[in-house]
Amino acid sequence: MSGSALDPTSGSETSSTGRLRPATVAVTAGRPPHDPDQPLNAPITMASTYVAAGSLEYGRYGNPTWSAFEEALGALEGGRALAFASGMAAVTTLLDLVGHDGSVVAPRHSYSGTIMALADGEARGRMRAHLVDIADTAAVIKAMEDDEGCALLWIESPTNPALEVADIPALSAAAHELGVRVVVDNTFATPLLQQPIAHGADVVLHSATKFISGHSDVLMGALVTADDEVYDALKGRRDLAGAVPGPFEAWLALRGLRTLHVRLERAQSSAAELARRLAQHPAVEEVRYPGFGAIVAPVLAGGADAGDFLVRATSLWVHSTSLGGVESTFERRRRWQAEAATIPQGLVRMSVGIEDVDDLWADLVQALDRIDA
Ligand SMILES: *Cc1c(COP(=O)(O)O)cnc(C)c1O
Repeated sequence: MSGSALDPTSGSETSSTGRLRPATVAVTAGRPPHDPDQPLNAPITMASTYVAAGSLEYGRYGNPTWSAFEEALGALEGGRALAFASGMAAVTTLLDLVGHDGSVVAPRHSYSGTIMALADGEARGRMRAHLVDIADTAAVIKAMEDDEGCALLWIESPTNPALEVADIPALSAAAHELGVRVVVDNTFATPLLQQPIAHGADVVLHSATKFISGHSDVLMGALVTADDEVYDALKGRRDLAGAVPGPFEAWLALRGLRTLHVRLERAQSSAAELARRLAQHPAVEEVRYPGFGAIVAPVLAGGADAGDFLVRATSLWVHSTSLGGVESTFERRRRWQAEAATIPQGLVRMSVGIEDVDDLWADLVQALDRIDA
């Protein structure tokens, strides 16, 4: 993970022959060849079936528009990507690979849908789940050691919505010593701020619905791996379960990915500034912000009532779930039954968009000031 800013010089030095930097990869990877009359962008290929004897055959097995998206995301993450119909389709596909009665060690503050999928697997007797504080490296390693059936370490970093950060290299190394596979849900950091495969993870997961697509208009997910055996297993599950995206969704997600760098740069710098200003407001008890990314989570001193007031008292900030769009949105996470009981009632998860930061602050502060009164 890089530091507090998008670092355009991160990665190896570029040259005419060297590796390209992430901003360039995001724009250029997965494009058609530079040949006369080729479109600059991968077109939307609407096809349920293909002329036989090629590599695709049928629309559930592959699609050229998915391939363009997969090439671009794979290049950014350092592996081969598979597109899914949603982030949860990617989550459940991966959990399907855990053998019967295998166990998963996962963050207690994982995305609520992931927690629900783990609980569902347990309730059906399919698997066991141990929820841990993912920021407590020693405790996570002990949980893996204590369970001989441990098959998968699930990392989400930063977590949604507590914004805890995991030590991916240390956890990956310890997991591999125990023969445990590692997945990192990289939805919050994006491949521009963190490349888990380079730090030892076997699989990277994305809800491409969020920052990658970036415009709050598409559901998509992805898994990325540099391990051919894991890739084949995941591709096999995708073919069977059929949780595949439509070509239009893949095209929108790729279109979003092209501008991820500039969107995230702006959103991150505004998020850091808002975190600083929020910390000084008397209505705010604590600000959770890991120092990078575009999600900020103030905990309001007035608890649930203050949070519920805030989300109804703004005009720019939109009260809605989900995150990662160009529009600033927020919600009090404990309004959801499924959210972990250890998340404070007054925690408001803010997804900072790309509007002017002073306009965003003015809208927030007029609401916060009225909580105080
Ligand atoms: C939203 C989200 C998911 C689930 O993705 P969907 O696209 O909504 O199915 C998984 N992980 C994280 C961290 C998320 O924020």
